[in-house]
Parts: sequence; C-alpha cells; structure tokens
Amino acid sequence: MMPCERPACPDWLAEHCADWGAEYAASLAENPKYEFAWKKWQGERVNIRLLPLLSGMTEGHCAYCDWFPMDTGTDPTIDHFRPKKRYPREAYVWENLYLCCRHCQEKDNDGFDEALLRPDELGYQYERFFIYNHADGTLSPNPAAEDNDRERARVSIQLLKLNFRGRPAARKRELQRFRDLDRDARREWIPLSPFRYLLWEELVLTEEM
Ligand SMILES: [Zn+2]
Repeated sequence: MMPCERPACPDWLAEHCADWGAEYAASLAENPKYEFAWKKWQGERVNIRLLPLLSGMTEGHCAYCDWFPMDTGTDPTIDHFRPKKRYPREAYVWENLYLCCRHCQEKDNDGFDEALLRPDELGYQYERFFIYNHADGTLSPNPAAEDNDRERARVSIQLLKLNFRGRPAARKRELQRFRDLDRDARREWIPLSPFRYLLWEELVLTEEM
C-alpha cells in the first residue's frame, strides 16, 4: 500500500451523497437482495465520473495492493472501503471510495475490520507498518512498530490477502526488474510499476550507498 493524498470531493458529489446513500439504504431495507447500481449524474454513471479523480489519486494503481496496470475492458472498479451492504448510507461518501483491483475488492466477502489501513489516512507510511521479506516476497507487520500498528498491518495483510494470489512472486519479479534497470531510468520507472512502495525503498537504499 502506497501513501496517497485524496483530492477534494467534487461539489456535485458532496451535494448528493447523503440523498443517494439514503436512497440505497431504503432500497436495501425493503429488499435485502437489492443489487447496488451506481446512480447517474448528468447522464453519466457516478463511478465513471469519479474514475479520473480516484485514478489520479493513486497514479492508476490499486489503492490497496498497488497492482498496476488495472484491468481494462471491464467496468472500472471502485471499492467501498466500508462495505456498502453494511454501510449503505456511505455508498456515495467520497472518503469511502478507492480505485481497487478485482482481487482486493473481494475483501468484502471476508468481513470488514475498522483496523484495515487506508492509504490516504494521516500518518500512513508503508515502512511504518510493514517490512518486506526479500527471501520469499511476502510482507509482514513491522516488528519495530507499536502494538496497534502491528495489529493493523496484520489485519490488512490478511483481509487484502497481500501474501496470496501470486503477489509475493510478483513482488520479487518486479524488484528484480527494477534492479536490472539503468540507475538513470529507475525514478521514471516507479510510477509505471506495481508495488511502488518497494521500489521507492530500494531507490532510497541504493542512492544512500
Ligand atoms: Zn489490489
């Protein structure tokens, strides 16, 4: 997870998010099987409208696992950090929305925990919460972190399955690819690669050498 800064909420969303959330909550209360569908605003679905802004926030990377590039050819995936079925009134709350890969979106199926880290929360830094294990490509909670931070890292690794689904092998692969680049090319490469947090860490280490 790479830290990012959330742009201001678009005015049209701020104006309507409470009403749209209440509407979805009412539909869900009436019929628990009601399927969520994004509202349209000025002829365009809200997720499509929000995509450029949310994508800009993370340089087009998954907000959680930092995967890149995101799937194309299918509906763009915007995740509700607090799951929409449990928190229907937050379905259109700006701070609850993140660009997300299909894998990470499955977190909703495995329960939600308020301890889950957000990449745009105040004080979030990769190295504060996590360490990378070079031998096997996995992430672990930073053993030097405070108890609460370690617990939050553990919950995030578990719920987002950060050490499954090929992610550890992909981290090793991307880090090696990065190391094979000319030094001059490395900095420009980072925004175009998954796992930017690893590559920044590597860049800082090599530049210190
Ligand atoms: Zn992801």
